[in-house]
Parts: sequence; structure tokens; C-alpha cells
Amino acid sequence: MTQLRLLTVHAHPDDEASKGAATVAKYVAEGVEVMIATCTGGERGDVLNPKLKNPENEKQLAEIRKKEMAESIKVLRAKHTWLGFEDSGWPDGEPKPPLPKGCFADISIEEAAKPLIKLIREFKPQVLITYDENGGYPHPDHIRCHEITMFAYENAGRVNKYSDLGFAWQPFKLYYQMSFNSNQMKAIDNAFKELGKTNPYAEWMDESNDDSHRITTQINCAEYFDKRDKALLAHATQVDPDGDWFALPTDVAKRIWPTEDYELAITRVATKTPETDLFAGLR
Ligand SMILES: [Zn+2]
Repeated sequence: MTQLRLLTVHAHPDDEASKGAATVAKYVAEGVEVMIATCTGGERGDVLNPKLKNPENEKQLAEIRKKEMAESIKVLRAKHTWLGFEDSGWPDGEPKPPLPKGCFADISIEEAAKPLIKLIREFKPQVLITYDENGGYPHPDHIRCHEITMFAYENAGRVNKYSDLGFAWQPFKLYYQMSFNSNQMKAIDNAFKELGKTNPYAEWMDESNDDSHRITTQINCAEYFDKRDKALLAHATQVDPDGDWFALPTDVAKRIWPTEDYELAITRVATKTPETDLFAGLR
């Protein structure tokens, strides 16, 4: 059997931990080569963990986030590549301020897709994962992450294009990340009710669209939720260990929603949905 390879593309350091980390850990444990690509350095983020919020950390955030990312990658035992773009920041205010010059979302899709095309041609993944057209949430870097991954998927396999970026390689399947889909959020809400606890995601739930009908593929990876927790905690400036991320006990999460979910957006191999394996049709 040929070596299976999975490439998952994320916008910022810590997105790999909050979206699909248990899937990555599972496939790595099964011998699949997994590459995580991070588009930006997360330089325009904030220190979100109140315990680490101080001017010193804020000043060195870019450096700290590199180290946190290395720690998360160690937990997940994946390979990692920085695509090298600058965080676009969350546009605060109405109307939204213009994007900072030269940031990830300010660069054209074709230009910004080049390092990813190069990576696809080098790593040769059969399967790609990215966010859906809404970015999962509407951060400009998440939307751009979707756009460059779609562009790279369509162009990495073209023999006559971008010949300076390596030999053509065509991935077979492309998935959208469907973490925190509406059915999962409902299950989580019920679990909080049973525990007699306030659901810290209630507001977020109200705002989100009903997207569960889009799910084609559910990966049973509850066994790896602890790794997901560890990867999240590696991003110490971003994740408060006593905060909302861990409001639902992991053993409850394993019981009520043991999968991470995806939408098969494009496939070049025959497969039958619903699927329980990202490599269905390729093994
Ligand atoms: Zn992000």
C-alpha cells in the first residue's frame, strides 16, 4: 500500500489544536504522514489567557507563539510548515478598518497560494483539509486560508503551471473542517444542562447557522481528545486552562460527541457518503 499523507491548512498557530487535532493524532498513530501548514504567525493576536497577560508577553507574542506551536506539534507528532504570512488581525469596529498593508488577506489569492502549491508538490498529500467558504468564523485570515487552499488544490496538479514551484501533484480529496457544527453544539448544550452548568458557548450557538446537513464524514477519535487538550494547552498565551475551552469535561465530550466532523467538498475518487475515514476510496 502506498504511504498515505494528509495536509491540513490552518490560519493561525492554535487553530490546529482547536480544529481537528484529534483527527491528526489518530491518523499519525495509524501511520499516516500528517502535515500541518500554518498560514500566519498569529502576530496580531492578543494574550487571551489572563494569567499570562502582561506587557512583556504582549511585546514578545510573535516569538512566544512560535514556541507554543512547536510544543503543540510535538504533542500531535505531526510535521509542520509555516507558510510565512503576516496575521491580518481581527478588524474591529464599524465600518471595518482597512487591512494592514502586506498582511495575509491583503495579498492576492494567487500570490498567497504559491507557498502552499509548493508544499503540496513536495509533500504529495492525497487528502487536504481547510475551512469552508465562511472560514469557520469570519476572520479575514480564515477566509483567505480557504481561498488559497481551493486555489492550490486546483493548480498544484497542473503540469504547465507554476513550474518553478516543483513537479505537479494532484491531491484526490478536499475536506472542510466542520468542528462546532450545529448538532454538536446542541449536544454540548444538553450536556451542560445535565451537568447543571451554564453553557459558555450559548451566545455563539445562537449566532451560528444550521450547518449539520453539510457533514459527510465523521472521524471517531475520542481516544485522542486528551491529545487535543494537550495541544490546546501548549498555546498557553491563547488558552486559559480554567477557561471556556475546558468547561465541558473531556470524558463527557468523548461520550456525547466522539467524532470530529468534515464535509467532503471535492473528490476525484469514488466514495460513498457518509464516510468514517478521510482516505475512503484511496486505501
Ligand atoms: Zn485562527
